[in-house]
Amino acid sequence: MIARPAQLLLLGHPVSHSLSPVFQNAALRAAGIPLTYEARDVAPAGLGALLGALARNGAAGNVTAPHKAAVAAACAHLTPVARQAGAVNTFWTEDGVLAGDNTDVQGFHNAVVRLRGAVPSSSVIAVLGAGGAASAVLAAVAAWDGCTAQVWNRTAERARALCSRFPGVAVVAETAVSAVAGAALVVHATTIGVRDDTLPIDPALLPRTADVMDLVYRRGETAWVRQVRARGLRAVDGLPMLIEQGALAFERWFGESPDRRAMWAAVAG
Ligand code: NAP
Repeated sequence: MIARPAQLLLLGHPVSHSLSPVFQNAALRAAGIPLTYEARDVAPAGLGALLGALARNGAAGNVTAPHKAAVAAACAHLTPVARQAGAVNTFWTEDGVLAGDNTDVQGFHNAVVRLRGAVPSSSVIAVLGAGGAASAVLAAVAAWDGCTAQVWNRTAERARALCSRFPGVAVVAETAVSAVAGAALVVHATTIGVRDDTLPIDPALLPRTADVMDLVYRRGETAWVRQVRARGLRAVDGLPMLIEQGALAFERWFGESPDRRAMWAAVAG
């Protein structure tokens, strides 16, 4: 049985820059739930012991880099989508054991719908990156009618390993330029541009008809999103996906939809 969480945490390393506590606490206040969502910096060596304690305490929460795969391995129950992505970003306690989901997958899907009105069909999707976020993107793309993904990553071996988990859907691209060739949607899923204005790929090299989603989010948007939009392409940063994955996690924990307007208002400005 899923009980109302006794504690709500975001586990990551480091997590100090995360916006999640800002909008999750706004959602909790709007719903009148007397809990505080706290970011907890956990070194990988301390994760196992902490998860045991959280299961005993009836905790729930979110997981961010670098712990998503480790938490998936530690959960007694996984949703099919978390199993497919090989990563958990949302956990809760069920009968004293941990259960996990991956709301990044649906959060990404919802953010794409918000950007372009509908998800692509019979199209090529370019994915730059092969970490946990790219894995969630591929899990979403795998459910889109007739879509395939061209995946480029700095470390080619990691791209090969990721694509092998999505046969018939994802293929490795040798370069970022070949990944974006013919793409209807270009998704940036590396950490480039998190702390500075480095670009994952020159906007001039993108197909003129592509839509662009940067999973990175920063106050005032990323430099890449601003420059891509200046070229006339439709582009958005990672904030809509972040809010959506958080809203879907809230639904998991409490069985009710959060006030998304309150969540957006909390991160505005
Ligand atoms: P991750 O598993 O640690 O993967 C990091 C990725 O970035 C790998 O593909 C890595 O390539 C690449 N990378 C790192 N430094 C690079 C560099 N200097 N040049 C080229 N590639 C580089 O992280 P993740 O969880 O996938 O997260 C990736 C990004 O997505 C982060 O910025 C994260 O904040 C964002 N994200 C956003 C949301 C959202 O809701 N908006 C959700 C999840 C993640 P190598 O394999 O070669 O190291």
